[in-house]
Amino acid sequence: MSSFMRRDIETMPVRLLFSAAEQLYPVWHGPLARQLEECGIDAEISDRTDHPETIDYIACSPNGPISDFKPFSRLKAVLSLWAGVEQLLDNPTIHRPIARMVDSGMTESMTAWVVGQTLRHHLGLDRVIANQDGTWHRELLPALPRATTVAVLGLGQLGRASAAMLSSLNFRVIGWSQRSKDLRGIECRTGRDGLESAVAEADIIVLLLPHTKATTNLVDATLLTKFKPGAMIINSGRGALIDEDALLDALTSGRIAHATLDVFQTEPLPREHPFWMHPHVTVSPHIAADTPVETAAAVIVENIRRGEHGMDFLYLADKDRGY
Ligand code: NAP
Repeated sequence: MSSFMRRDIETMPVRLLFSAAEQLYPVWHGPLARQLEECGIDAEISDRTDHPETIDYIACSPNGPISDFKPFSRLKAVLSLWAGVEQLLDNPTIHRPIARMVDSGMTESMTAWVVGQTLRHHLGLDRVIANQDGTWHRELLPALPRATTVAVLGLGQLGRASAAMLSSLNFRVIGWSQRSKDLRGIECRTGRDGLESAVAEADIIVLLLPHTKATTNLVDATLLTKFKPGAMIINSGRGALIDEDALLDALTSGRIAHATLDVFQTEPLPREHPFWMHPHVTVSPHIAADTPVETAAAVIVENIRRGEHGMDFLYLADKDRGY
């Protein structure tokens, strides 16, 4: 018998459905169950989609089994396991609040990844590694960080933390976002002019934008002509931010010196994709910041606690904005 059979609504435990890649359920179940209990929430967790009308919350990622949310008639919220929620926002069957995953561990991972990739280029680590030839290459001396300008496109949870860490290392940091901001150590810009001036001034451009209608192919052939010649691109936002053919042309012409890409239009990146063989592309298999189970389970549980106490949910995505 299903653990989600109908019972008297007053005595019913909170019902949480976990809908993600199959192998993740055993990994998440323990931390979710333990943290719900610690919070004093009587809850049942399942990965079974029968009796959808009894479900209160769905913790999910787009690669889970649920695509039609209509049968979940008493659903209070959709709690994303991922930071990027474009697929959930695009799902016409979801009429409930969608909470993004905002997690300290994810932010820590992304910050380390972005800073690491930036330092690789700033310090010229590839040239150092490639020059182990017995010659004392003093010409490989790196400049001071203050001589390198990094533009971080997207100043949300992940972009802001990465920009702040780069600024703390004394890089000159330009940030770009939808709404204007005043962030210590970061030259904040908005609008098309702000974008074009940021990419024109930056040696390294980091993309940490969500995929929305407005950001699709943002980095296209037109914008690429505005980049500083020889600039490097680091994309850990979404593959859809970049017109991949236009980027390949810009890499071939030398306007863009290197692209480190963690995300792609198609994932996994197809074997025959020219990025794999391109001498100035580093392919990274969408590993910049995974969702760490322990801390992220606490985020899911906190939102369930808030829902059960009639409080506002944290980290709600905005359907109109698209992120
Ligand atoms: P977030 O908190 O929602 O921040 C999004 C940022 O992008 C905000 O600063 C927002 O501006 C800005 N933005 C959105 N649309 C814009 C536009 N049209 N023009 C200018 N700025 C715009 O998101 P986050 O948590 O930082 O995550 C960012 C993205 O990283 C996610 O959406 C996901 O795609 C990606 N991600 C990748 C990995 C990975 O492993 N590679 C892991 C996690 C997340 P405002 O501040 O003005 O709203």
